[in-house]
Amino acid sequence: MSSHEFKAYTKKSFDKIKHLYNIPKYVEDALEVSANVIPFRVSSYVLDKLIDWDNIPEDPMFQLTFPQPGMIDDKRFAELYDLYFKNDTQGFKQKARNFHLSMNPHPANQTDLNAAVLDKRILSGMQHKYDETVLFFPSQGQLCHSYCTYCFRWAQFIGLQELKFASREKESLYEYIKRNTTVTDLLFTGGDPMVMKTSILERYLEAFLEEKPGNLENIRIGTKALAYWPYRFFEDKDSDDLIRLFEKIIKKGYHLALMAHFSHNRELETPEAVKAIRRLKSVGVEIRTQAPLIRHVNNSPEVWAEMWKQQVKLGAVPYYMFVERDTGPKSYFEVPLAEAYETFTKAYKNISGLCRTVRGPSMSASPGKVMVDGIAEINNEKVFVLKFVQARDTDWVNKVFFAKFDDKASWLDELVPAFNGEEFFFEQRYNEIKEKKLNLLNSCSAH
Ligand SMILES: *Cc1c(COP(=O)(O)O)cnc(C)c1O
Ligand code: SF4
Repeated sequence: MSSHEFKAYTKKSFDKIKHLYNIPKYVEDALEVSANVIPFRVSSYVLDKLIDWDNIPEDPMFQLTFPQPGMIDDKRFAELYDLYFKNDTQGFKQKARNFHLSMNPHPANQTDLNAAVLDKRILSGMQHKYDETVLFFPSQGQLCHSYCTYCFRWAQFIGLQELKFASREKESLYEYIKRNTTVTDLLFTGGDPMVMKTSILERYLEAFLEEKPGNLENIRIGTKALAYWPYRFFEDKDSDDLIRLFEKIIKKGYHLALMAHFSHNRELETPEAVKAIRRLKSVGVEIRTQAPLIRHVNNSPEVWAEMWKQQVKLGAVPYYMFVERDTGPKSYFEVPLAEAYETFTKAYKNISGLCRTVRGPSMSASPGKVMVDGIAEINNEKVFVLKFVQARDTDWVNKVFFAKFDDKASWLDELVPAFNGEEFFFEQRYNEIKEKKLNLLNSCSAH
């Protein structure tokens, strides 16, 4: 039996990729420069099974994992290119840093406003934004089998934003969840928690397996491993242990959901991905799927419709289509809200009702997840019909509101209220919540 040892290439091994794969000469040098500026890591599986090397550089899997020159503005790129091939390491580093700092590393003030506080102590590596779900960032899960070029967490991959995590925080996590009885869901996220060894994941879950807090119902794991390294679930050294751990979680009475990130239908079509999904399903793991809509990668209704169909066929549940966030090389990837709505609708029309569990296009903005639910004309004014599917104040959930139509806008903060309204209905309350949270944080001990 052949076995696949995990292997990832980074900027340091770019030369090897050039030799092993068929990158056209005319894009090679420019790519090498980009890969030294934007976080770059790609698994052998993506290189061997997902990228269509006859379609470079347009291939969506290539665009998804290889930083492209177009992600950097022309002038800056020309300067970087020059410094790189002049071997001016210091100059290059400085220029690259400037670029990183221009990329909005803290989208939607998450670090402050989503902080989890226990006994006047801010818990690092945790976020609690919506009543029912706590996010947990295990320190050993802060990278991924490959990196998505559009990722909004790139700041942490290059050390601009550290998410330090002391191992004792696993006790605080348990305590926090037990005491906050509105919490029904614990979501492991990253990076990708599935890069962790099973034994490490098990350590974080130990207390939860010993005694289930009455309020905690669902354990979720956010991952792109099914797309980037499906061997994780059947061929890694500790794959069998991982599956046994999943069985244990389910046996303890939790609903276990893998929140799987799939960007393109091609990721679902390999025998490896199918095998991994089958194995997970066979032990009762639920798989829900989500991804952002990204120009150059999946900006096509056919891709989404095909993806959702494949997912349902394999027993996975389509969950969210996201709007690309307001961070990173956004101008390269962004799709205006009006176009995103069109793409979603075209895809949504041509699929079975079984696929229509998906919601979107949805923006994960600071007040909440806001989806574009329609484009309408009311009293002769063209408007976006928006709706909270998730919110800092649960009273807002499932509420619709209206913004003036704008065919260029691509994020909530670019929209203004329709009908000459002064502000959106949630703004005053949102400011109160913000102020209250900041006061709480100020009263916490520095930790
Ligand atoms: C999306 C998200 C969640 C989970 O929301 P669901 O709609 O329940 O999937 C939880 N916390 C944060 C910060 C999120 O962005
Ligand atoms: S898998 Fe997720 S966390 Fe990792 S690079 Fe892609 S989007 Fe970012």
